[in-house]
Amino acid sequence: MADMDVFEDAIARLERIGRSADVPPGIIDALRHPRSTHIATLPIRMDDGSTQRFQSFRSRYNDVLGPTKGGIRYHPGVCLAEIQALALWMTLKCALVEIPFGGAKGGIVVDPKSLSHLELERLSRAYIRAMADVIGPNKDIPAPDVYTNERIMGWMSDEYQTINRAKSPGVVTGKPIALGGSPGREEATGRGAFFVLQNLLKERGLDPGDLRVAVQGFGNAGSQFARILHAAGYRVVAISDVLGGVFAESGLDVEALYREKQSTCGVGGVYCEGSVCHCCGPMSLEQISNDELLELDVDVLVPAALEGVIGAWNVDRIRASIILEVANGPVRSEVDDRLTERGVVVVPDILANAGGVIVSYFEWVQNRSGYPWTLSEVRGRLESTLSAAFGKVWEAAEDEGCSLREAAYATALRHLEVAIAAGGTREYFAGNVDHG
Ligand code: NAD
Repeated sequence: MADMDVFEDAIARLERIGRSADVPPGIIDALRHPRSTHIATLPIRMDDGSTQRFQSFRSRYNDVLGPTKGGIRYHPGVCLAEIQALALWMTLKCALVEIPFGGAKGGIVVDPKSLSHLELERLSRAYIRAMADVIGPNKDIPAPDVYTNERIMGWMSDEYQTINRAKSPGVVTGKPIALGGSPGREEATGRGAFFVLQNLLKERGLDPGDLRVAVQGFGNAGSQFARILHAAGYRVVAISDVLGGVFAESGLDVEALYREKQSTCGVGGVYCEGSVCHCCGPMSLEQISNDELLELDVDVLVPAALEGVIGAWNVDRIRASIILEVANGPVRSEVDDRLTERGVVVVPDILANAGGVIVSYFEWVQNRSGYPWTLSEVRGRLESTLSAAFGKVWEAAEDEGCSLREAAYATALRHLEVAIAAGGTREYFAGNVDHG
């Protein structure tokens, strides 16, 4: 089990939950393989005149509900299995929150922090040239993910429109507002996770003021989430980034840490190179490692960095009673049952971080209608979409006596089942359907 790659692990979880929720095997079969995955090598002229080649992927997983949608990741660890797992989870996420998108994901195997601004721009534009036939506002719509941001989305959107000699801003979401982005997109994943957490606390009768929260990952999703929590009076006791973390039992001044990290932007605002650990001195905070953060004695643990950080090797040392999966796939499927048996409430990624794709959908709608929304409209619609999704998942978990993950998967799979069945089922084609 421990040797499974992330895609095999994702399929194992899908099959297990599909069986226990009595989802017809045909639906699970339909979701076992991506519809298409494109692999391209991108030759890039480097600033010193040499050429380097980067491997890239775009997986369009399932488009039964609409054009496929999913972020683009720049990371040295990107691989086919990771991209396909992320694309599958995106399919389930869009189905769960009932937005008319299928799931996709893309990525480039690169350490983006080792590139200059111009190399990064050339790489981003080359990716779009390689994938130009696959993506499009009615086909497949990229967005930011780990180590990509709104500036990169702006370059990508521009490259696509240059190739097609027409304005179509809806091809990419998470763009700068000046290029057709949506108010509220940058904070969307964090704000969405906050709405989901608020709903959970209400159902469980918990007071936010009594809780200690630890957040792993201080990028787009993690930092916005921590800031919103801090502003709402929660006690965020630990945060970390790739270089390590900081801890204070009495609570961190998240805004001060955010400002400190932003002010150490070494690459002119493309990437923030400073680390939260460097904030220790002036604020006299305790330094901790990412592993230590996961095992802290806190009430709410929020993995908001990469997948697979909680598994058989550390599950018994996790002390939080709530895990809010802001990252995609932070918990390996092998420990799902172990966490449930121990009474740990895991709010699954396909619900907890769905705010990002929901506001991406709002951005796409605004681009297509040519009618921009206000920030309060975006926030209001985000909250109602997520509260409705949370309500369905909570009710299903109560009715079935199952975990929130099982309830979320079952709800998403039923939505996909209805759409797949609308195209015709075995019973229909065999003439066994009574049309009354
Ligand atoms: P980001 O690039 O903005 O930030 C990533 C953060 O993770 C950084 O703070 C980085 O230092 C940290 N990090 C990287 N490697 C790490 C490691 N090995 N250990 C600990 N920390 C590490 O990325 P993001 O957009 O915030 O994405 C984070 C997670 O949230 C990913 O799983 C992503 O798929 C998920 N997510 C993001 C969005 C979005 O809108 N950006 C939406 C849904 C889900």
